[in-house]
Amino acid sequence: MAKVTLITHTPEPDRLVAAAARLCYSRSAADKLLQELTPEKTGDFLRMLKTVGHESPFEHASFTFAIEGVSRTLLAQITRHRIASFSVRSQRYVSERDFGFVTPRAIEDNPEAQKAFEKAMESAGEAYSAIADILSKSYETEGMEKSAARKKAGEDARFVLPGSCETQMLVTMNARSLTGFFKQRCCARAQWEIRAVADEMLRLCRSAAPLIFEGAGPACLKGPCPEGKMTCGKIEEVRGRYR
Ligand SMILES: Cc1cc2nc3c(=O)[nH]c(=O)nc-3n(C[C@H](O)[C@H](O)[C@H](O)COP(=O)(O)OP(=O)(O)OC[C@H]3O[C@@H](n4cnc5c(N)ncnc54)[C@H](O)[C@@H]3O)c2cc1C
Repeated sequence: MAKVTLITHTPEPDRLVAAAARLCYSRSAADKLLQELTPEKTGDFLRMLKTVGHESPFEHASFTFAIEGVSRTLLAQITRHRIASFSVRSQRYVSERDFGFVTPRAIEDNPEAQKAFEKAMESAGEAYSAIADILSKSYETEGMEKSAARKKAGEDARFVLPGSCETQMLVTMNARSLTGFFKQRCCARAQWEIRAVADEMLRLCRSAAPLIFEGAGPACLKGPCPEGKMTCGKIEEVRGRYR
């Protein structure tokens, strides 16, 4: 099961973003601008920035998450977001013998599918260990030291691992990038695993920076559904949930 933790973030993110934006329109020094910002002024200023689309000040606030117990399938999706920094557990340097895996709910709820899935996981695990052993032995025969041989073998044995294979990562994104991420990934049309992670990230962001992330969520919160014919058709329900 996915576990999302907000490890750290820029101090006073709401006030910092408001101060950065105010600096663009003022002759005052930056520290003075920060001091003058009451919560009301900060809220008004951030709302104005969002309305006029002045988004670059939101890049000053960064948020770092630990995301654990998710699949490599999720990894493939989240790393498509280029305005972000990732550190991911390596399948080269960390052995995947007895790897953990994520089971989709639809499979879990269907005994026949569950049986086939478990069989596939077992078979992938056996193939991984067999290939790792074979390659490792052959590298040792060539004169490689044992632990180096095992590491090198894992590098290729991992090719049999499934997309469900569990992983963990640290992700850092700034508030502008996060807002775009939430627009796409909190949408009901996003895939269930990344949507659950995005929802939890949004919940954590809202408590750390309530003004920056006020109104953040799927794109339909602020306008028509961008999905066209593929809309979930539940716009009011979705809006209600995120508000
Ligand atoms: C429901 C859903 C289905 C998807 N299906 C597929 C699929 O079938 N196949 C597939 O390949 N992908 C798919 N994607 C991934 C999608 O195409 C994006 O790659 C991903 O969501 C990252 O979005 P992004 O580029 O806006 O984010 P980021 O990479 O974080 O970029 C943020 C913003 O920065 C700007 N930007 C970043 N890089 C550039 C650049 N090089 N040039 C110009 N502007 C840039 C853009 O404005 C961009 O929106 C899907 C995504 C979703 C949400």
